Amino acid sequence: MAKKKTTKRRTRPQCKFRRVILKISGEGLGRPGGFGIDGEAVRRIAGEVVSVTELGVQVGVVVGGGNFLRGATVASKINIKESTGHYMGMLATVINALALQDALEEVGQATRVQSSITIQRACESYIHRRCIRHMEKGRVVILAAGTGRPFVTTDTAAALVAAEIGADVVFKATNVDGVYTADPKKDKRAEFLPELTYNDVIDQRLKVMDMSAVDMCERNGVPIVVFDLAKSGNMRKAVLGRKVGTRIHG
Ligand code: UDP
Repeated sequence: MAKKKTTKRRTRPQCKFRRVILKISGEGLGRPGGFGIDGEAVRRIAGEVVSVTELGVQVGVVVGGGNFLRGATVASKINIKESTGHYMGMLATVINALALQDALEEVGQATRVQSSITIQRACESYIHRRCIRHMEKGRVVILAAGTGRPFVTTDTAAALVAAEIGADVVFKATNVDGVYTADPKKDKRAEFLPELTYNDVIDQRLKVMDMSAVDMCERNGVPIVVFDLAKSGNMRKAVLGRKVGTRIHG
């Protein structure tokens, strides 16, 4: 009698977070300190994102625009209104979002770009319920143009959207292991801080995210995990609740 074939069913590892908002600074999409987009960096990020959507985790990505320009800086440099500079900064985030969309689609990940400033021919506009629906369908939603309003940053946009769509966590990508007492690239005595409360960050003015973003996460009970996205496997570790970076909570 022929032996019965036994099929091994691969079980998915247990994820700590079901829906996440990943905040990537523009710098993360370019070469350190450089201008514009680096294809290799964008593809690496796409790979990290896919490594968690494969686990069934819903992902929204808020992209910054600092690799092109930041509103306040450009406004003072070329002597234009600060609000105009901020709108320029928001448009820069749309450029990054489109690049990330292509990189994700290249590896077979369905995506949608939703912008807080309507740019009808290039992407969807941000619609709260539609954003959630896309995520439920397994699409990565790339959130562009920040909040759509000047004088704030994409950190605040990430905290806002996390609260709005009921995300379980905000992942803040950085280029160091997590939060330190000082900049570890400049100060050798800088100490790594594996766990913090929102109040620690605010009271000690630690450079994690904008204070308004930290405050918004606190008010809505959304934890923040700060980690190095350039290290392969870190996003998956974070999603699984393994030790990575700095965890900020109540
Ligand atoms: N910005 C804005 N409103 C927002 C988000 C961003 O005016 O809701 C502008 C602001 O000028 C900011 C620029 O867009 O400096 C780029 O965003 P951000 O500085 O957050 O980019 P990152 O530093 O994360 O690359």
